[in-house]
Amino acid sequence: MKKTLLLLAALLVGISSFADGFDDYFENATLRLDYMFSGTAKTQHIAFLEAYRTEVWAGRRSHLEKPLLAGNGEIAVRDAATGKLLYSNSFSSLFQEWQNTEEATKTERGFENCFQVPWPKKPVTVTVTLKDKYRKVTCRMTHPVDPSDILIRPLKARNAYRQILGGGYCADNIDVAIVGDGYSRYDLNKFYADAYRAVEAITGHEPFKSLADKFNFVAVAAVSEDSGVSVPHDSIWRSTCLSSHYDTFYTERYLTTSSMRDLYFQLAGIPFEHIIVLVNTPNYGGGGIYNSVTLAASDHPTFQQVLVHEFGHEFGGLADEYFYDDQFDVSYPAKVEPWEPNITTLTDFKSKWSDMLPAGVKIPTKPDPEWKGVDVRKIWKDLSQEQKDALNIKLGVYEGAGYQSKGVYRPVQECRMKINECERFCPVCSRAIENMVRYYTEN
Ligand SMILES: [Zn+2]
Repeated sequence: MKKTLLLLAALLVGISSFADGFDDYFENATLRLDYMFSGTAKTQHIAFLEAYRTEVWAGRRSHLEKPLLAGNGEIAVRDAATGKLLYSNSFSSLFQEWQNTEEATKTERGFENCFQVPWPKKPVTVTVTLKDKYRKVTCRMTHPVDPSDILIRPLKARNAYRQILGGGYCADNIDVAIVGDGYSRYDLNKFYADAYRAVEAITGHEPFKSLADKFNFVAVAAVSEDSGVSVPHDSIWRSTCLSSHYDTFYTERYLTTSSMRDLYFQLAGIPFEHIIVLVNTPNYGGGGIYNSVTLAASDHPTFQQVLVHEFGHEFGGLADEYFYDDQFDVSYPAKVEPWEPNITTLTDFKSKWSDMLPAGVKIPTKPDPEWKGVDVRKIWKDLSQEQKDALNIKLGVYEGAGYQSKGVYRPVQECRMKINECERFCPVCSRAIENMVRYYTEN
């Protein structure tokens, strides 16, 4: 009797774990869903545009239902018949950043967004949710997707690609596609060389260095008509495959592309989860949006530093640790704990790095007096390793982060997420990246 019960229990355990498997609900293919996010500073609207199918699913196959970080939005896939949550992922968007601009108080605008989810075997419902800086839901749209829908367009590969790091696509690895903008047909050798420099920069930084075998990087040969990129403040406009430009939101150095659909068409047929866009220009600039896209200017002397910083945003969900003394706009309101792992408003510090803080460290932590009024960026190269370590490793809860000099706190005085001069991520950012790599690659 006892034996029979044990056998029955074993069978049930077997059935239940089997029932939660990727293969039960999904095929090894990708469903790409395109949306238009539109609105003003105060309104948001989400409209479905089109769906596509590409072969191979490069995303994660475990932790399917729960993203590691909350992000500013979420896409969730549910079984249409039972309502069971099958997959979800979190993201941030350029549209939500734009909502904080002055333009958004005067004009209604729309921004393209593309998401990839695993190809469902049965009809599903897909829900896209946007949240504000108070982490409250502000917009939600649900629509059905039937995998047998004749209007889902299958996409074939458009571009050739070269493996830069890793042994090719693997279900257990993190797949990063590097694509160029502003590289003409004559610039492709330069593009590949820049792609190698990009991977060298990322894998030259801990914890990526120790975890490099968890990554696949491919360089995708997208060709632009013109060489170089658009610089509106100098009246320079170029015809490039991703239409990247400076002056995003009228901020000179903010280099982005809002042509997300063009970007995804360039990457069709290539297994990827994360995107790095290398922009062929010497002008300083870049951008990184969580689970959306990393951009960096490949010919600027700080290319590698900026790229790693921006990849910290895109891949690690890390916040900027720098701040402005004269920032009046509140990005991180008091009494709301940000979802980013490397900053806190002390509303829920236990969820952040309190477990890493050495005993006796005061909260908030006063910076060492020797650095009072010193702009360390200017003297960084002359500092001793010991001094750099004190600034980069000595954990505390220092006021000033997330663009605000008050009310937001960072883990160390200097970090890759604060200044380009600092060579390393701080211990809190490093742990956050490690956790993210584990989340993708471990069951
Ligand atoms: Zn940091």
